Amino acid sequence: MGSATASGATATAGPALLEVTDLVKHYRVRSGGSMARSGPLRAVDGVSFRVAAGETLGLVGESGGGKTTVGLSVLRLIQPSGGSVTFEGRDVLAAGRTEMKALRQRMQIVFQDPIGALDPRKSVGDSVAEGLRIQGLAFRSQSRQRAVEVLDRVGLTAAQARSLPHELSGGQLQRVGIARALALDPRLVVCDEPVSALDVSIQAQIINLLLDLQAERGLAYLFIAHDLALVRHISDRVAVMYLGRIVESAPAGELFDNPAHPYTRALLSAVPTDHPAAARQRIVLRGEIPSATAPQRGCPFAPRCPDAMAKCSEETPEFKEVAPGRWAACFLND
Ligand code: SF4
Repeated sequence: MGSATASGATATAGPALLEVTDLVKHYRVRSGGSMARSGPLRAVDGVSFRVAAGETLGLVGESGGGKTTVGLSVLRLIQPSGGSVTFEGRDVLAAGRTEMKALRQRMQIVFQDPIGALDPRKSVGDSVAEGLRIQGLAFRSQSRQRAVEVLDRVGLTAAQARSLPHELSGGQLQRVGIARALALDPRLVVCDEPVSALDVSIQAQIINLLLDLQAERGLAYLFIAHDLALVRHISDRVAVMYLGRIVESAPAGELFDNPAHPYTRALLSAVPTDHPAAARQRIVLRGEIPSATAPQRGCPFAPRCPDAMAKCSEETPEFKEVAPGRWAACFLND
């Protein structure tokens, strides 16, 4: 059993495509209406993980736990406060403008709300083509043809490629979002709640499309979601975030069948199941996630943990390997 390291935190079978080490994103905040500064808001507070080529790492947890901030930081769409992000051996956080442009081609993102990234006055085909031109990957006529091809691959017709964003449904728009990412031929796609705004039947279509594309192209996904059943379906490994930290990570099946952290157990107890024998007793967490600006002492989950012991309020459990390939931050595993 080891202690928490970047490489061990969410160990992959193969070499890392993406390696994140002690990632930190703090925001300065002011308390109330006064100008007095409170402590920093610790949106992400020392997160480490790896993603191998062709692998899906699911990142789960309640809203406000820091998942999206991790995704945006990895792509440097926001600037982290500390830590390191290495992609294909290159230091993302130290990259200059030209290198970052090349990296962005290889690391793409699919947002929950694709319409926010589309120009309402341009056809969706033009929006996809524009990404190719900005990256210098195609001239105007080639880019249009390539956009039509990519949109066709995600299930949209040439006629739909000529549509304005408001003329398409939510599911069709998410296909456009995926096409925009795919057009650049990335190796890694951060999927930030890509189906949570869609109807269930459309969700399944989009997830199947993502799985097909992964099989075809060897894509790696960092899949951010709060729907645990979905995450289990799509992920090779899963990391559970609470209050800016990863509290458990494991291969997906092991984490869902035998969670090692009380927070994971509570999250899973709320997942509906069709099998009465597999039904878990619902664990209702009391209270909200504590403020990320509050001073921390002891286990961050202690105020809500049904298994908390006296020492949980005094000491912070180490994130460590509790079984081969399984990591958790909880004294119950000692
Ligand atoms: Fe609960 Fe204590 Fe484990 Fe934290 S260390 S999750 S408070 S039992």
